[in-house]
Amino acid sequence: MSIKSHAKRALAGITATAALLLTVAACGFTGTAGGATQSGTAASGTGTTAGTIAVVASINQWGSVAEDLGGEHVAVTNIMTKTNVEAHDYEPTAKDVARFGSAQIAIVNGADYDPWASKAAESTKATLVDAAETAGIKEGDNPHVWFSAKARSAAADAITAAYQQADPTHKDVYAKLNQDWHAKEDRLEAKIKNVAAKTANLPYAATESVAWYLADDLKMTDATPQGYAQASANESEPTPADIKDFQDALKAGDAKLLVLNTQESNSTTEQITNAAKQADVPIVELTEQMPAKYGDLLDWMGALVDQFATAAK
Ligand SMILES: [Zn+2]
Repeated sequence: MSIKSHAKRALAGITATAALLLTVAACGFTGTAGGATQSGTAASGTGTTAGTIAVVASINQWGSVAEDLGGEHVAVTNIMTKTNVEAHDYEPTAKDVARFGSAQIAIVNGADYDPWASKAAESTKATLVDAAETAGIKEGDNPHVWFSAKARSAAADAITAAYQQADPTHKDVYAKLNQDWHAKEDRLEAKIKNVAAKTANLPYAATESVAWYLADDLKMTDATPQGYAQASANESEPTPADIKDFQDALKAGDAKLLVLNTQESNSTTEQITNAAKQADVPIVELTEQMPAKYGDLLDWMGALVDQFATAAK
């Protein structure tokens, strides 16, 4: 995009500030192509707006953490924000990739969840924060690491460290925002501990192991039939026998709660959901990306913990 030519034309007769706004609009930078959104106090196509750190996050849940931790000193662009697109097979647009080139800090989920983002960040000067890596979670492990209390805290601290390095003038501000964030995370973890008294050892099954870390923090037992779980983890089709095992587990009461990832739903998950309904097994529905109605990752997690508490009989 050509900022300079837009700006030159726009500067004739109007203030520089208005020109910047016009430029941004003309470039369509604040648009939602590719599902991306931008927030923060200053939007700039070049990512070099004075006083703010340009941050790009591959997925909106980590982007929301980046916003909490940077406040008015960061401008965060999220690439994946939609809860109705295939999260695991996301194909970035050229625009998505370009956003990494103009970022000072890039936040990816890692653990092979968003390999396109790690790849896009690789060839740029952006400081990379790999959320999974900060918690020692590797490729081949369950990649939905934002559901893990340990990963959230580790990633938050890595983001704060990146901010303090990029913008040492505001070191104390970032330290305070980090403290506030941890206070909120601590409240969430206290809530998880409370609910765990009710959900401990509760056998659950999941159409996809999306909330596996949260279920683990809630001390629940994963009772997803193995054949199905393996097929799901490998992103291959479960066999009819796998599906029947799953339905039988729900009927027999071997799984007392069903976790349904609506973002990765298909005819198979529909068969399973129907079996759960027939067997009167409560269903917790969730998505991969953070639904727009939540302020940040911690609010979303808190709401999900409430859902698990309600569903646990
Ligand atoms: Zn998933």
